[in-house]
Amino acid sequence: MADLAIHGGPPVRGSLLPYGHQDIDDDDIEAVVRILRSDWITTGPTVREFEDAFAASVGARHAVSFSSGTAALHGTAFAAGLGPGMEAITTPLTFCATANCVIYQGATPVFADVTPDTMNIDPAEVARRITPSTRAVLPVDFAGHPADLDAILELARSHELVVIEDASHALGAEHRGRRVGSISHMTVFSFHPVKHVTTGEGGMVATDDPDLAARLRLFRNHGIDSDARNRQASGQWHYEMVVLGYNYRLTDIASALGLAQLRRLEGNLRSRRRIARLYDEAFSGLPEIVRPVERPGVSSAWHLYPIRVDVPRLRFTRAEVFAALRAENIGVNVHYIPVHHHPYYRERFGYQGGEYPRSEACYESLISLPMFHAMTDQDVDDVIAAVVKVMEHCQR
Ligand SMILES: *Cc1c(COP(=O)(O)O)cnc(C)c1O
Repeated sequence: MADLAIHGGPPVRGSLLPYGHQDIDDDDIEAVVRILRSDWITTGPTVREFEDAFAASVGARHAVSFSSGTAALHGTAFAAGLGPGMEAITTPLTFCATANCVIYQGATPVFADVTPDTMNIDPAEVARRITPSTRAVLPVDFAGHPADLDAILELARSHELVVIEDASHALGAEHRGRRVGSISHMTVFSFHPVKHVTTGEGGMVATDDPDLAARLRLFRNHGIDSDARNRQASGQWHYEMVVLGYNYRLTDIASALGLAQLRRLEGNLRSRRRIARLYDEAFSGLPEIVRPVERPGVSSAWHLYPIRVDVPRLRFTRAEVFAALRAENIGVNVHYIPVHHHPYYRERFGYQGGEYPRSEACYESLISLPMFHAMTDQDVDDVIAAVVKVMEHCQR
């Protein structure tokens, strides 16, 4: 058995393989350059073109772009009418932006624990947390696997809640024959470089509801009502700011990149699914590793491939497994530190840890393996070799 790199042995590979990476090709670069040479570099026709193509691709009537996924989440919290005295329920096992957007609007995020198989929010836990103040639910499609959307929408119907799906991981995923983006009242996507489609920074909200779409457009442009009829009536300089909004606009430059990237989404999804299958096959013989599941009727977008290590079976802690893999030059990561563990949440809401035992147990054992479109077969082989090597060393 070769020595582990962490013990001074040769690493599986010579340079660090990141857990996620953008894929930019010549078409992307040309598309951006074309915009740079044109008259419009922000708020021109390419923004709408990207929004329309995106809406068509996820099967929604409207898509409203934002300057980031976080800005898009903020927009949905506004459009849902969240405000002081109101609550919104979300999962602790997410990036903090999902819960932060509730606080931006002066409302209170309430966490509901996850189901152990998908690590998505458990509808039974959501039901338990609903109060007369609850206004919205924010399920997250963790790692690209859609949340239990039917059960959540059913709860929303009976309690008159708005469902804001954080699908930052799940562009291209399907749930019972429907594409993510066409299911919830509003669905949020992120175009950060590690996500399926990137615009550098950027985000999008998909919705079928024209009123929600109008509120989202208002919010991302300072709350300015740009209705042309008002403008004509009072002179061409006239505009009205009717609510407190922000400058959360996506640029034409970014939209051109997004449009070009979106054309390659299917290929991107195919390679992620293939990598997931290769990992599944390679790790099926390792009882120390709990592999991510795909429930029947669901097609994951495989943003992440999060394994859980069965720590009691090992001579290493999760931190030691993590460090050993990093030493082999495999850029593993952990998604996520539960939101209620962060100092801001502890101090502001009084969390002590222990409130959400299933999310916390997941967090204690999670390790995200590299997963991105541009990974070569050699990259995949290196990840597998490193995981097998580390497991051999730490089996009891
Ligand atoms: C990436 C991400 C966001 C935030 O998106 P940005 O575009 O980086 O602002 C929100 N929620 C989840 C779950 C994410 O993964």
